[in-house]
Amino acid sequence: MTAKLLSAAPVVDQFKRDLAERCQALKLKGFTPSMCVVLVGDNPASQSYIRNKRRICEEVGASFRLEHLPADIGRNEFLGHVKELNQDPGIHGIIVQLPVSEHLRNLDLPNLVHPAKDIDGFHGQNTQQLYAGTRDLSLLLPCTPKGIIHLLNFYGYNLKGSSVAVIGRSAIVGKPLSMLLTNLDATVTLAHSQTKDIREVTRQAEIVVAAVGKARFMDRSYFNSERRTVVIDVGMNSLNGKLTGDVDLDDVKDFVAAITPVPGGVGPMTVVTLIDNLISAVERTAKGMQ
Ligand code: NAP
Repeated sequence: MTAKLLSAAPVVDQFKRDLAERCQALKLKGFTPSMCVVLVGDNPASQSYIRNKRRICEEVGASFRLEHLPADIGRNEFLGHVKELNQDPGIHGIIVQLPVSEHLRNLDLPNLVHPAKDIDGFHGQNTQQLYAGTRDLSLLLPCTPKGIIHLLNFYGYNLKGSSVAVIGRSAIVGKPLSMLLTNLDATVTLAHSQTKDIREVTRQAEIVVAAVGKARFMDRSYFNSERRTVVIDVGMNSLNGKLTGDVDLDDVKDFVAAITPVPGGVGPMTVVTLIDNLISAVERTAKGMQ
């Protein structure tokens, strides 16, 4: 068996066509979808993520603005910028690009952006929908989990009743994903650094999501080739200067049925889902004003 590669490219192409149509429909109603990224300092990885966001935004016809603030900006001045954007009717989606400077990290960052403009889906009012059991992918939910569901749907994997192992319990990936999968009728095991035997969990699962943040953390010993496992590799690690996933693709490719590549898998799905959240946010505003 050689694993099928679950590339994001065809999913992203389909999404971009759909987003461009929705964007055009909004423009005809007088709304030009506009997002603003607030960047503090000059983190090179952040700059590269922002370039990708800008590119897709512009490709679908939405407008993009970067608010680039100095690394040593005062707390009040920083909060003032976000408040202004929250009140600006011309801006529909706001992202505070993480990481911010050390002295801003104890601010309540997930809840700074107004929930209706929170296209990252981190605000408590938006994540609360996950606890409440939502299955509605048009809500402003965290982008990486939502993007993973879109990718699995595109490739025709049935979540209802399937056993899924999610490795990693962060607030932006593992936890919201495990809730969304549960809401979509999967049976989820959420594992982390204190789990006694991760292999026991992953070898039983039909779908394994690796969100650990350690390059090539999972090799073939994590999989039972008879299970024909589908693997979603969320990891974006730098190894010898190369973007590398949490799963050792070369080692596992004959032991699993399908796997997302790194790069070209979950990463592009996250970005396109962010723009999907932007368009959804504007559609809600437009509806509210009719
Ligand atoms: P994170 O906040 O560092 O969380 C990592 C999780 O992995 C934690 O829950 C941790 O457990 C768990 N973990 C660490 N070592 C482990 C081990 N030896 N065995 C089992 N579990 C272990 O990371 P994150 O923000 O979720 O990101 C994870 C990876 O995904 C990173 O490489 C990140 O760059 C990438 N990422 C990619 C995208 C994308 O769009 N592709 C988006 C977001 C993140 P504890 O909780 O017990 O510490």
